[in-house]
Parts: sequence; structure tokens; C-alpha cells
Amino acid sequence: MLIGVMNDPRIDIFKEIDWIATNGFDFIELTVEPPGTYYNQLEAKKVREAIERAGLDIVGHTFFALPIGSPVEGIRRAACWELEQCIEFLGEVGAKLVNVHLDGGTQLISEKKIIELNLASLAELIEKAKNLGMSLMVEHFRGPFARPEPLAKLFSALPELGFHLDVAHANLFSSTNRTFVFLEKFSDRLMHVHFSDNFGGTQDLHLPVGAGNIRWKDIIKALKKVGYQGKITLEVFSEYRQYLIESKKIVEQLWQEVKI
Ligand SMILES: [Zn+2]
Repeated sequence: MLIGVMNDPRIDIFKEIDWIATNGFDFIELTVEPPGTYYNQLEAKKVREAIERAGLDIVGHTFFALPIGSPVEGIRRAACWELEQCIEFLGEVGAKLVNVHLDGGTQLISEKKIIELNLASLAELIEKAKNLGMSLMVEHFRGPFARPEPLAKLFSALPELGFHLDVAHANLFSSTNRTFVFLEKFSDRLMHVHFSDNFGGTQDLHLPVGAGNIRWKDIIKALKKVGYQGKITLEVFSEYRQYLIESKKIVEQLWQEVKI
């Protein structure tokens, strides 16, 4: 199991790479997003060299606010085009795995239509990633994609689509944490995991691990049960970075302690 951190797109990327490596993390989850680390704001070669020099592995994260399920065709097309540029940039930086955020749509659009629009975009984006020797995975959040059934429709339509589990998102819009059901249904597609804490409800608080109500021992047990050995990104957002370092220690300790 490897533990990484996402860069803060407001901070100079080279400072972030240094901080992540200096503090003993295994990889950077490079987020390609405004205000400071969008694909047209960085030089891929320089970023790649800095990551290699730091001895870090890399996972690609694209901007969450690109609406791949928009019912306005011109906007959906533009979102796909922007994501293709993000994927290309991440490929140049050395990422083999890249995520896309599912678009939960709006209340007036039927669930069937939201799934259909997301599927149309994902089919294109998978091809783009594949042509660059990369894999594409989807991160779930709200709307239909907070539940397993709509996600299952995506995975059965797109055999190469990966699953990016966010344990904090699975704790929202639901009375129980859906990590367990997601792992039961989609562990064969699991490619990457995000950890942060919250108190359920609708607020994605990005708290340090252990600061909310998520039962981390049970989560780690469930991950171990499906044989997950891959990367975990700590998505703990605070200007006080000690919280990231402490979260890393807690996850490492639990990973050692929890037996299946
Ligand atoms: Zn996430």
C-alpha cells in the first residue's frame, strides 16, 4: 500500500513536489486544475523531471468542475475537449492512471439521461487515454452516482473503465458509508482510493483521517479483504499540513494493526 498527497493548485507545483517527497509520501496525485496547475499553465517536461528527481510516483487527477454530463451538447463537448487536453498533459508528465469526475447532473434531467450523457463522454475519454497507454477511472460523488446501481450501469457498458473509490464521498448522501457495498460490487474495477473524513450529510469536509465519523478500521479491513494493495491519496485539505502527516501515520498504523 502506498500513500500519496494531492498538490494544492494554488501553490507552486515545484514547491508541492518538494514538500510531498520531503515528508515521506510515495506519490503525488497531480491535480490539473485552476487556479494554478491547469494543463496550459505548466510545462509538462519540467514537471515530469521534478517528479522523477523527487523519486515520486504519480497519479493523474483532472479538474472536478468539467460537466461531462451536461445536457447542453456544446458544453458537454467542450468539457470532453478540455479533459482530453488534461489527459494528454498528464500522460506527458508520466501518469499511467487518470481520473474523471462523474457528473451528477441536475434534478430536472432524468437519471437515465444523466447516465447516457456521462457514458457518451466516458467512451470518448477512454479511447483518448488508451491511445496514450493510460487507464481511465471514474470518481463518484453526488446525484445518481452516489448509489451503486447507476455506477454498475457505467461499468457494464464500459469494460475498461476503472473505479476510483472516495471513502469520504461514500459517506455522504447516505445513512451508511457505501464503501462496503461499492467494494462488494466493484472491487474488480478498483484502481485508486481517496481518504479524508467528514460527518456524513452533504458536506465534503476533507477533514484529517479520524476527525469525522468514518469507521476507519472497518474501511481498512474491507479494503484488505478485497486484496487492495494499491495507492491511497490523503485528500485532507488544511493550511496546517501537520494534519496530512498525522493522517499518514494513522493510516500506516491501522494498516499494520487491522487483521482480516
Ligand atoms: Zn476524491
